Amino acid sequence: MPVQLEAYHTLLTQLPPQVTLVAVSKTKPVSDILALYREGQRDFGENYVQELLEKQPQLPVDIRWHFIGHLQSNKVKYLAPFVHLIHGVDSFSLLKEIQKQGAKANRRLDCLLQVHIAQEETKFGMNEAEVLQTLSQASFTHVRIKGLMGMGTNGVDEQTQRAEFEGLKTLFDKCRSTETAARSTEIPARDLEIDTLSMGMSGDYLLAIACGSTMVRVGSLLFGGR
Ligand SMILES: *Cc1c(COP(=O)(O)O)cnc(C)c1O
Repeated sequence: MPVQLEAYHTLLTQLPPQVTLVAVSKTKPVSDILALYREGQRDFGENYVQELLEKQPQLPVDIRWHFIGHLQSNKVKYLAPFVHLIHGVDSFSLLKEIQKQGAKANRRLDCLLQVHIAQEETKFGMNEAEVLQTLSQASFTHVRIKGLMGMGTNGVDEQTQRAEFEGLKTLFDKCRSTETAARSTEIPARDLEIDTLSMGMSGDYLLAIACGSTMVRVGSLLFGGR
């Protein structure tokens, strides 16, 4: 299936100015990525480290690569030199490895904490207590926590989806006030800069935006089915 250029431009007209579109290109060839790049798209998302490492050198250097899959600690070192944002951080030990590899690469690596909002057991992520604890413990020189990421349950009714997204938005707002509190105590909170809420995919991005998403991750709508 060719790249859906018309769907891409329609989608752009639906995005409020504060919402970033990440085009999810997993399993798709570099030619498809280039086709969207030529339309002006710069943020692309990949799920698999090996696949990303094969594609990245073949593509323009000003692409902002988002890693949206489940990241294993032993693979962080491959992404550290170039990744723009790591969406799926689900443990403090992973953050510590990102800190270590960020220091080696001499970069501060931007991360989102993945929150488990779906009813499905199969999805990864932290619960609310773990998120808040992580924020209060975060003291990093080469990690910056930018916000939260979540995935809703597949194939449920809109009311359930909405409740999941609203729950994530409420937690996001709580995190932002935690950050503000940290700043007001004049402890330098440079490792927190919470402004990104990554939620919404091809099937539910409009609902996610209505619930306060600032970043949508859209794949099949742009690139066709996988
Ligand atoms: C594959 C994937 C997407 C994109 O899904 P579509 O339904 O194809 O838009 C978004 N987020 C994550 C984490 C994914 O794995």
